[in-house]
Amino acid sequence: MKALKLFGPKDIRLVEVAVPEIDDNEILLKTEAAAICGTDIRMWQNGCQGVDETHPLTLGHEFSGVIEEVGKNVPFYQPGMVVGMQPNIGCGICDACVAGNFHLCEDYRAFGINMDGAFAEYIKIPSEAIVRGNLAVLPNGVSCEEAAVNEPLSCAYNGFTKCSVQPGEHALVVGAGPIGVMHAKLLHMAGAIVAMNDLSGERLEQCRSIMPFISTYCGDDLAAFTREFTLGRGLDIAITACPVPSVQAAMLPLMNYGGRVNFFGGIPEGKQPVPINTNFVHYKELFLTGSTRSSIAQFRRTLGFISQGLLDIRSVITDRYALNDITDAFENARQAKGIKHLIHF
Ligand SMILES: [Zn+2]
Ligand SMILES: [Zn+2]
Repeated sequence: MKALKLFGPKDIRLVEVAVPEIDDNEILLKTEAAAICGTDIRMWQNGCQGVDETHPLTLGHEFSGVIEEVGKNVPFYQPGMVVGMQPNIGCGICDACVAGNFHLCEDYRAFGINMDGAFAEYIKIPSEAIVRGNLAVLPNGVSCEEAAVNEPLSCAYNGFTKCSVQPGEHALVVGAGPIGVMHAKLLHMAGAIVAMNDLSGERLEQCRSIMPFISTYCGDDLAAFTREFTLGRGLDIAITACPVPSVQAAMLPLMNYGGRVNFFGGIPEGKQPVPINTNFVHYKELFLTGSTRSSIAQFRRTLGFISQGLLDIRSVITDRYALNDITDAFENARQAKGIKHLIHF
């Protein structure tokens, strides 16, 4: 079968490898759709610890597929079932895992991050992932494409849940990439009035074409825009969906009393610490929140949003490729052309 492997920094290759063999406790999944994430691009550009010419890694953690083969001890699952995958596998023992937060486990493993992922025609699902519920049978009306992009949607939803969004509140999303779009869609679904900000007017234009309900701002006086947008009150919700320290610091003066800020995009270690004026937190009684990845429960919840027609996720998929063209897809994603790039198998 074909698989896209990372061999080191700036070195990905579509190579021929053996179809994985499964044991009695494992599942073999035939990949149907897999999406490219900013994390894949960073791993491609920077390499990844433990990955080199002799230890390549198959990338891809946003995916769905059809069950091809099931080990004889595997409960519930049958060949032919169509499933989405929450890619974070916890140890199952620590307090985070016991609380259902496998994505916060110190010893977590994840497909395409530190074990072989989904940019391959087949993928082996280990028994821990099966018995901990990482696979989700797709509910009615959810396609394999939608299930693949449900993974980042569930991560955005994790951030969303920290912000106690109320209908009619004013929300700003900074960063008009795929994650920013997903945040905007979730906020809109919850009845918030949504604006997006980005350095690229072109990207904001693209966002508005798929979300006519948003306001957008591309300029250097975000404070003036925010005053106008919120009728002088300030933002109830701000989400930073970009890895930029100055953006995090810039949110605090823009907030309304009791406002909630979610630092969604992580900041590269070399750019920490980020100086913030904590008096805004104090005098405006702000809530600063963070979120990373998503839980399996959140992954299943957002699948429900798609299934029930509450949120249209299909429109984030702007570019589709065959597996043979995957390196072109990576290059286009790196150049931030389009929003979400999806590979078909
Ligand atoms: Zn991702
Ligand atoms: Zn754990």
